[in-house]
Amino acid sequence: MTHKDPGDLPPTPSLKALTDQYDGILIDAYGVLVDKSGALPGAAELLARLDTEGVPWLVVTNSASRLPETLAAELAALGVPVPAGRLVTSGGLLPEHFAERGLDGCRCVVMGPAESTVYVERAGGIAVMLDDHTDADALVIADQKDVRCLEDLDRAVSLMLRRFDAGKRLELLLCNPDLLYPVAPGRFGFTAGGLAAMLEAVLRERYPRRDLGFLRLGKPNRPIFDAALRRLGSARAVMIGDQLGTDIAGAVGCGLDSVLVGTGVAPAPGEPWPVRPTWYLRSLTQMLDAGA
Ligand SMILES: [Mg+2]
Repeated sequence: MTHKDPGDLPPTPSLKALTDQYDGILIDAYGVLVDKSGALPGAAELLARLDTEGVPWLVVTNSASRLPETLAAELAALGVPVPAGRLVTSGGLLPEHFAERGLDGCRCVVMGPAESTVYVERAGGIAVMLDDHTDADALVIADQKDVRCLEDLDRAVSLMLRRFDAGKRLELLLCNPDLLYPVAPGRFGFTAGGLAAMLEAVLRERYPRRDLGFLRLGKPNRPIFDAALRRLGSARAVMIGDQLGTDIAGAVGCGLDSVLVGTGVAPAPGEPWPVRPTWYLRSLTQMLDAGA
């Protein structure tokens, strides 16, 4: 896969260059360690070498549809052993944001599959069914899976307007802010962030003077990077990812260096890169072979 960067490509790092310069490594999962076909070349070797050298690492993913233990089992089955404790998921950020916003014990509508609801319950929320008359204190859009368009969006927008028209509070949380995901060559699907964007368009038109919108937890927003750096115990980290708009832009926004890997979602052909990574790799194996 070729990236059409208008200028020169950033330099290619060796693994030693990264482990010398940074205290820890943040790694995206899909498009870097695995893709639809399975484990990507070099993924398991990279993690094994980081462990051997005692370099702290975490996998940072926008997933909120599967719990860390489920994701860990899936990755292990693909031959990429990632302990659940090394996974930073956007759903896993809910407990601290529920605590900050006083949402413990609150009624929450959760959009997403069954494990998204478990994330909310682990955060202290009480999940309520979304129907035509639901009242709730929070709306959590975790993941697009199992969301029934337009039925659920009609119910969600009705809940929002009932609450806001009555001057009541409704906390809006968005775990995975991605707009789209690639389904197959030439085919795309709306992701959770795309659903939230539709609801926010209504809020902007109906309440133009109120700053209403979803708190975005996942990449490229700060909360997931802040959580990852806290767990790493250092801000001197580098983010390895395949998406300019999430992994790289998020790292840049947090003042982190980044490595773009060319194995996942490429930028649209001919489009200039909106952000520039510190480093570039065609694949993880290019780094493992370089200066090893
Ligand atoms: Mg990715």
